[in-house]
Amino acid sequence: MSDVKNVAVIGGGAAGFFAAISVKTHHPLAIVTLFEKSSKVLSKVKVSGGGRCNVTNANNDITSLCNAYPRGGKELKNIFYRFGPQDTQNWFEDRKVSLKAEPDGRVFPVSNNSQTIIDCLMEECKKKNFYLL
Ligand SMILES: Cc1cc2nc3c(=O)[nH]c(=O)nc-3n(C[C@H](O)[C@H](O)[C@H](O)COP(=O)(O)OP(=O)(O)OC[C@H]3O[C@@H](n4cnc5c(N)ncnc54)[C@H](O)[C@@H]3O)c2cc1C
Repeated sequence: MSDVKNVAVIGGGAAGFFAAISVKTHHPLAIVTLFEKSSKVLSKVKVSGGGRCNVTNANNDITSLCNAYPRGGKELKNIFYRFGPQDTQNWFEDRKVSLKAEPDGRVFPVSNNSQTIIDCLMEECKKKNFYLL
């Protein structure tokens, strides 16, 4: 991917934002455009976790974490070894989003407000300078 010039990411949800951010992190010179068909990006993030956004889980044991998935756990294993729950927590905390784990392991922003996560992703979009259409 070293000679990538233009990258289109389809869908302005959590996955699209993270993909666009990741491309710009690894290929800062790439021109990245994130296309969203609806009038609002990150609308599911807004309602996620009852409006609090359950960003990840405090369980960092990948095997038991994957076993908790009713399906797809096997496929997730390699992905979690590359970027696991602790990486997710570090990623947000590096961007000044304070997180807390609840007794059942769910991790939320301390603000208890999914808007904190949206603000963080939008801020990163500005910093990384990718286009949002
Ligand atoms: C009520 C509710 C609560 C949830 N709570 C949580 C939670 O707390 N924690 C959690 O991890 N997950 C939660 N989820 C699951 C959550 O939806 C996903 O984790 C996450 O939002 C999925 O992100 P995504 O980017 O994969 O998909 P989406 O958020 O669905 O984003 C896809 C985007 O692509 C756009 N799109 C589709 N087709 C096109 C096209 N052809 N061109 C351009 N744009 C297109 C859509 O408009 C949308 O904006 C919850 C889901 C719901 C419904």
